[in-house]
Amino acid sequence: MHTQLWNSILSQVSRSIDAHRFETWFRPLSLLESDDPEVISVAAPNQFIADFLDQHYKPILVTTAKQLNFRLKDIVFTVGEGSNTPADVEPEIKEEPKKVAEPKSSTKTTSYSYPQLNKRYSLETFVVGPNNEFARSAALAVAEAPGKTKFNPLLIYGGVGLGKTHLLQSIGNYLVSNSPNTTVTYISSEEFYLNFIDAIKNNSTKTFTSKFRSSDVLLMDDIQFFAGKESTQEEFFYIFNTLYQNGKQIVLTSDLPPSSLRGLQDRLISRFQWGLAVDIQPPDLETRVAILKKRAEEDNLDITQDILYFIAEHVSSNIRELEGVVIRLLAFASITRSDITLELVKTVLKDSLKKEKRRVTINDIIEAVGNYYKVPVNNIREKNRRKEVAFSRQVAMYISKSITNNSLKTIGLNFGGRDHSTVIHAVSQIENLIKTDETVSRDVSYIINTLNE
Ligand code: ADP
Ligand code: MG
Repeated sequence: MHTQLWNSILSQVSRSIDAHRFETWFRPLSLLESDDPEVISVAAPNQFIADFLDQHYKPILVTTAKQLNFRLKDIVFTVGEGSNTPADVEPEIKEEPKKVAEPKSSTKTTSYSYPQLNKRYSLETFVVGPNNEFARSAALAVAEAPGKTKFNPLLIYGGVGLGKTHLLQSIGNYLVSNSPNTTVTYISSEEFYLNFIDAIKNNSTKTFTSKFRSSDVLLMDDIQFFAGKESTQEEFFYIFNTLYQNGKQIVLTSDLPPSSLRGLQDRLISRFQWGLAVDIQPPDLETRVAILKKRAEEDNLDITQDILYFIAEHVSSNIRELEGVVIRLLAFASITRSDITLELVKTVLKDSLKKEKRRVTINDIIEAVGNYYKVPVNNIREKNRRKEVAFSRQVAMYISKSITNNSLKTIGLNFGGRDHSTVIHAVSQIENLIKTDETVSRDVSYIINTLNE
């Protein structure tokens, strides 16, 4: 059996494709007995996956085997269960050599594994939109002239799954191809922290940190993770200073702008602000479509334009989720052995669609308020001055202001063409009542809750 070879191939592959994809295509595979020593036989859970691997991944797998100095004629994919357990490979190779505590006097033999760049994260595959173009330009400027721009450090910040890691690693990959003499180090703050703690235990912090001090470019991901970790921050502070003083480039990412990072020492935060902080915003619809298109192309997926739009319209929170949908589509198509149709997309998206909040309109609000206070909706909309009607109208205006994005002007127009000062008055009336009158406060929250359901 080629168990060892197969596992080596898998771990190699897991480095060059993203974790999602690895989980979809490679995790479910198991190795089969093969009569020919130069042929690897692998079982896939269904025909779709077998075909897909055969068409798209076979050449990579065979090349990888060659790189591992193994002569391989072929890899055969069949449907079924292998005799052995499924591939037991971590998608991101994090495994460190076991470190044995050394006596102080011994020479340092501890070796650290530093993470590698993922080749998939390149500037070419990074889709540019209004949400990220500034960050991308800054990243490119830094990649072209590390340490020589004013952007030192460059800090890229933004929410989860918006492309920070992708952009950060793109800088590294750009340098690896365009100026191979530049020493680039990429690490996430978490890995840095974990390794640093080990290094302290083993009395080998110098060995561990020397790689960082001697880098031309240091790419440090998710620095918010350093929050509250004093000695790690201390060490990082010295590394930062050394690099900065020697004109080396530092690029950082975080989930918040530097001024909002909690639990980090002030001296670090002030250093983060020496250079440039750029944000990445959630992508707009067009950018989401462009990203999906690129993903579909990468996977040779046939998805029509209107389906791409449908997905992009309904999944807007972050790009990782958007990609997750494409992967789920693949999986579904494989189980049902069907084409990717709008129907299939709707099934796949069912859960996400339910979660995505339906946008509440002013009309919904007027209806809900009318129902609750038993006042006809037309009376709320029009110029009826009866007291309970006027009150319901004010509540409806207040809720419209609170939970929709409509301007005061638009809200006024929806209530029989009243002007914005009337809306302001209504809003402040109800605000006061909510503070002083428990019934009003309870009623209003009740109505808002029903609207959000
Ligand atoms: P973050 O680090 O901000 O949480 P990632 O960089 O891990 O986000 O991005 C999540 C996924 O979305 C990755 O697979 C990445 O390749 C993809 N992605 C993000 N932004 C873009 C973009 N502008 N173009 C193409 N793919 C993107
Ligand atoms: Mg990230």
